[in-house]
Amino acid sequence: MSGISIGVLAVQGDVAENISATRMAMDELGVEGIVSEVKTPEQISDLDGLVIPGGESTVIGTLSLINGSLKKIKEKIASGMPVLGTCAGMILLSKKAKDRVVGDMEQPLLDYLDIKIERNAFGRQKNSFEADVSLEKIGIPNFRGVFIRAPSVVDAGKTVEVLSKIDEKIVAVRQGNIIGTSFHPELTEDLSLHKYFVNLVQKKN
Ligand code: GLN
Repeated sequence: MSGISIGVLAVQGDVAENISATRMAMDELGVEGIVSEVKTPEQISDLDGLVIPGGESTVIGTLSLINGSLKKIKEKIASGMPVLGTCAGMILLSKKAKDRVVGDMEQPLLDYLDIKIERNAFGRQKNSFEADVSLEKIGIPNFRGVFIRAPSVVDAGKTVEVLSKIDEKIVAVRQGNIIGTSFHPELTEDLSLHKYFVNLVQKKN
């Protein structure tokens, strides 16, 4: 098959919205390829890029650990596959997570992004909000961020590039081909971030 293959991890969370945002981003860029829901290690092993959606990181992590996909994603990341992780997705990509109220969390993580995450950093569901964020370093000066029980990055290692902050809290990072955001780009009309990711996957190919 010609073109790239991007998967959206379909365990729980904003799967359909990410499928549709990635599909539209590819169509608008004129990039050929497929976007599909992926769950199993076999499906993941064929991918050129992966989106890990927002949702509940403990659920996505635990189920992916049980069926072996967490291990497969780690292998693919080690071989250079680009990943976009939004909200719960960024939590999963991190090395360490704590909850603002509960403290340190023992939950399955991909252990890649050299960051420590604070879950629910802006409060709980009722404290959800929207705010303009700037992702200047990746050519997106203005983006409407939708924050739902959003995490923030409290520690970032040297290899991590901070892409965006609000109220002094880090809300978007990049480390190599891996992008993490606290907010949900799939819930806005703006496809800029998904387009950036599609370009990253295409370049890598
Ligand atoms: N706080 C959620 C978590 O831990 C993430 C919220 C979201 O993805 N919208 O997993």
